[in-house]
Amino acid sequence: MHVAFTMRNVPSEAASPIILAEKLTKVYAAGRLQVTAVRGVSLAILPGEFVAIVGPSGSGKSTLFYLLGGLTQATSGRVEIDGIDFASLNDAERTRLRKHRIGFVFQKFNLLPTLSAMGNIEIAYAVSGRKEPLDLKYLDHLSELLSIKGRLDHRPSELSGGEQQRVAIARALITRPAIVLADEPTGNLDTKNSDAVLEMLLKSNRELGQTTLMITHNPEAAAIAGRILYMRDGEIVREEKGNGHASVLPGALPGTIASSSASSTGSQRDAATV
Ligand code: ADP
Ligand code: MG
Repeated sequence: MHVAFTMRNVPSEAASPIILAEKLTKVYAAGRLQVTAVRGVSLAILPGEFVAIVGPSGSGKSTLFYLLGGLTQATSGRVEIDGIDFASLNDAERTRLRKHRIGFVFQKFNLLPTLSAMGNIEIAYAVSGRKEPLDLKYLDHLSELLSIKGRLDHRPSELSGGEQQRVAIARALITRPAIVLADEPTGNLDTKNSDAVLEMLLKSNRELGQTTLMITHNPEAAAIAGRILYMRDGEIVREEKGNGHASVLPGALPGTIASSSASSTGSQRDAATV
């Protein structure tokens, strides 16, 4: 299905990928043993997409996450974020690219315990190195979207796991990153909170057009994405459309720009694995 896109930042079919990985391999040396955690993975994530990578424990998902996020170096192969090859950067530049262009969400939330939710979001923004001041209107919009408006004064220990993860998502989104990378974002949550967090990730994709890559061992969680990549023994073995695919979207979520954003993610994905 090809549709005319009206929303800003929504790509055409020819849009260049936010993440481009080519033949990525990571070998860990564990004593005398070598473990090939990721073997020859190639993929592309296009602007506006919500992609899930799903696979059993030990299949190499977190290693792939670290490679794509520039948190570890590949043994071979390459990664480009928003057109920039990690390998072309020194350590400081790589850190800068990461802070500027990637919003990380982790299983264990990783909020700073002594700061309030607001403080956690503010510090992430400060660290991102943006020159313009924090857009409080945008923060307000995000807190509304993530249903944490009344919780911003609280410290992480005063928040439920689900609330903490929603704060962590706000922290990731506040810098308007090129991509949100989430590793098992629902891994520490009960079903109810897990559903809420998945819904928030989906909303940020549809309503903000946020390009998102979520890694999970849970096929039900992965199903909300527009495109699902199946990982096994370090390789992407299969690709499927998820429930977030355009064909099921119109009317699925109320809102103005939601459907145009959503349909954009639908028509591109067959071309998106290289
Ligand atoms: P997943 O996130 O899918 O559970 P991982 O990427 O964590 O998978 O692990 C993939 C494989 O790599 C596993 O066999 C794991 O034991 C191994 N591995 C992960 N990290 C390291 C490490 N730092 N050193 C050695 N082996 C590792
Ligand atoms: Mg893992």
